Amino acid sequence: MRSETIPSPGTLYVVATPIGNLADITYRAVAILSEVQLIAAEDTRHSARLLHHYGINTPCIALHEHNEREQAAKLVERLEGGTSIALISDAGTPLISDPGFHLVSMVRERGHRVVPIPGPSAILAALSASGLPVDRFCFEGFLPAKTGARQKRIQALADETRTLIFYESPHRICATLEQMEEIFGGERWAVVARELTKTFETIHGDTLEKLSAWVAGDSNRRRGEFVLLVQGAAGCQPAAGIDADAQRVVEILAAELPSRQAAELAARITGEKKNRLYRHIIDDKQ
Ligand code: SAM
Repeated sequence: MRSETIPSPGTLYVVATPIGNLADITYRAVAILSEVQLIAAEDTRHSARLLHHYGINTPCIALHEHNEREQAAKLVERLEGGTSIALISDAGTPLISDPGFHLVSMVRERGHRVVPIPGPSAILAALSASGLPVDRFCFEGFLPAKTGARQKRIQALADETRTLIFYESPHRICATLEQMEEIFGGERWAVVARELTKTFETIHGDTLEKLSAWVAGDSNRRRGEFVLLVQGAAGCQPAAGIDADAQRVVEILAAELPSRQAAELAARITGEKKNRLYRHIIDDKQ
């Protein structure tokens, strides 16, 4: 068992830091951050608050997505000279939708030790309280910002049976939920985990249809940081299998109208669910 809190020379420590509540840090993380010779931080000004809170005076340098490759080479040289270094990001576990991948892979390639100092990550915090199955899950990070690319990615996940986990921005949470409702179907269960560990922490689950309306219904529910979790496809009503008449109607309409409008009209004509018809159009196009 490795329980050291005194850093070894020439070692890179990957240290998880709080995702909101400053008390969510391990004793070992505080000890390592206090005792290493250098901290590589995603944003030195942002991390200054945490370091100051714990009375940590270790020198910091910036390692962010724009300088990571160049900075990684310099940090490897420092490690080779015997310096002990801790890597931290603005929040949570470094590398998880955060900088650090190039550094860690370079350090390992050169045969130096990389030691994880585990702690918070928004993925696991959200999953653990979501009530969704946790035995198998699939982390998708941030979806693409552009509507078309996002739609394609969501479409590609439609049959994924594991619990799906996404990071999402407050600006896109409504659009993403609407697209998911259309593609996965309004009946599928989903959970938004917002502002975890902070004052306005909210964890709310419902069907995609109701959740989408719930988030859209109040601008306060769209503020802050989000993890979005969606039930896997198993156990959901399959989109395939709409009856032949409904298929014919929706296909005729989709040839003349935008997909969403075609699905809406076909739903009114046939009584079939709009989401299932929309999904049929999308499947057909692909
Ligand atoms: N490395 C971090 C981790 O381990 O969770 C994630 C960094 S990523 C750049 C930031 C995103 O994580 C946010 O946009 C949000 O989607 C999610 N996130 C971070 N903190 C959160 C919190 N307190 N509540 C909900 N989501 C959070």
